[in-house]
Amino acid sequence: MTADAPDRYGVIGYPVLHSHSPVIHRLFALQTGQDMQYELLQVPPDKLTSAVRQFRRTGGRGLNVTVPHKAAVVALVDDLSERAESAGAVNTLTFGPDAVHGDNTDGVGLLRDLQNNLGLRLAGASVLVLGAGGATRGIVRPLLEAGLASLTIANRTVSRAEELRQRFARWGDVSACSFEDIDLSEPYDLVVNATSAGLKGETAPYPADAIGPSTCCYDLTYGLQPTPFCQWGAANGASRSVMGWGMLVEQAAESFYIWRGIRPDTQPVLKQLSVNAS
Ligand code: NAP
Repeated sequence: MTADAPDRYGVIGYPVLHSHSPVIHRLFALQTGQDMQYELLQVPPDKLTSAVRQFRRTGGRGLNVTVPHKAAVVALVDDLSERAESAGAVNTLTFGPDAVHGDNTDGVGLLRDLQNNLGLRLAGASVLVLGAGGATRGIVRPLLEAGLASLTIANRTVSRAEELRQRFARWGDVSACSFEDIDLSEPYDLVVNATSAGLKGETAPYPADAIGPSTCCYDLTYGLQPTPFCQWGAANGASRSVMGWGMLVEQAAESFYIWRGIRPDTQPVLKQLSVNAS
């Protein structure tokens, strides 16, 4: 690599070819005058370790980590930020000269979108999170710290939801259950889809009674057309159904700040993507 080659970053996941992160980071780099490039690394779980090591060995400066690698990549990190450690999941790797640093920007990204971009009030809210994978790990503590009344984690594999309930219980009122056992005594203020079902065009049997006329449905998965979860929310009378474009841009901005020490303005990028759908 020559001295004036752009600094290399990327996103590693499986699947990852749908990712809009390269466009977002290119826009951030243009906006802030940073000389960097951003690559897509489509890598299955059994090649994760070798792919991360090779990217670092060949001069890579940092990686975003996405589905399904966020928990597994923790084992490849020398030191973790407090938020990544409490999550047990990493979405941002930084390759220093002597160490690999792991951080997690998903929670701050989601909260900035919900509170700043969408104007949602989280204090006192009841929240249902569907899914208990790497993304859920990153968002539960920041949601609880925003002062929720309650947070329920429902997952296809109940033992994973229960593991997260135990992990996060010290930060607030968390319960865990299967999709069939969700408490439906009152509709939730916010229903967050953090499953990866939509990536495969699938849906799961979520109960419609979780939604009332003032419920906001928020899908971490995003697409050019409304996702199956957003369609489900709209069909069942949610006040709004929002895809996770805003979170994507906000968590990317936080990763960019970690890597480059400059905080990009997310609003023009959100506008340029023209996708702040609701
Ligand atoms: P992950 O670690 O692989 O976890 C996947 C989760 O989805 C698990 O809870 C899994 O349940 C569940 N699931 C998968 N297929 C399902 C199906 N057919 N029916 C019901 N549940 C199903 O993935 P992740 O990293 O948490 O990511 C989850 C989603 O969030 C992905 O679509 C990702 O792209 C998105 N995401 C978006 C942003 C953003 O910025 N907008 C940020 C982070 C993640 P089991 O435990 O039962 O297998």
